[in-house]
Amino acid sequence: MPSLQVFCYGNLVDFLPAHDREKWVSVPFQGRQTLKHLIESLGVPHPEIDAVTVDDHPAGLDDFGQPGSQVQVSPFQPGDRRLRPKDLGFILDGHLGKLASHLRILGYDARYHPDTVDEVLAATSASEHRILLTRDRGLLKRRAVVYGYCIRNEDVRQQMQEVVTRYNLAAGIDLFSRCPRCNGRLMPAEKDAVASRLEPNTLKYFNRFWLCQTCGQVYWRGSHVERILDQLRDILPDRL
Ligand SMILES: [Zn+2]
Repeated sequence: MPSLQVFCYGNLVDFLPAHDREKWVSVPFQGRQTLKHLIESLGVPHPEIDAVTVDDHPAGLDDFGQPGSQVQVSPFQPGDRRLRPKDLGFILDGHLGKLASHLRILGYDARYHPDTVDEVLAATSASEHRILLTRDRGLLKRRAVVYGYCIRNEDVRQQMQEVVTRYNLAAGIDLFSRCPRCNGRLMPAEKDAVASRLEPNTLKYFNRFWLCQTCGQVYWRGSHVERILDQLRDILPDRL
């Protein structure tokens, strides 16, 4: 069967089996197929691809592959402005609830509903210009997805490290501006206004409170919040 050769660089090798890394990989050519289709057949989703060359000439993902050609595929570099929409916002897949809360604590707009189906995730990321975060590479291969990233790690602290680095999040932190529970806006609240909803010990030891404008949850810098901030300090030592 005719084939073409593909070489993936940088962190795109994360999508390849170990025996296909750092080498030319042969991809079967079955008629009229775009480079997007041929490269994604290896497991590499298109939102992570920056540049493609065919026989050393720049090419686009919608160009058609040619049997016998050599295709080189490069990833985006962390911090590249082309990785993100002008107004930074995220939408997260159902298995990334903790990551959504952590992003919200830093003040980032992170839409998350655990039962949203793939089709809606992809369509919403496109219509609202949000970065789709998921561990499901099949979801990222959907053509509707423009901005997206496949989370590599399972531990939320490592996940945050990935996202903070990739999108340079250290630059835009706005603590206690967004509700970790629902993504609504937080506003400072007078102690008297929220006192009836707090435990006596909370009233005794805390004086600053924030109220979610969407779900009504009250926040203060108690042990739960401090625990999360401690984790984030490992990643953003000078920012928190
Ligand atoms: Zn809320």
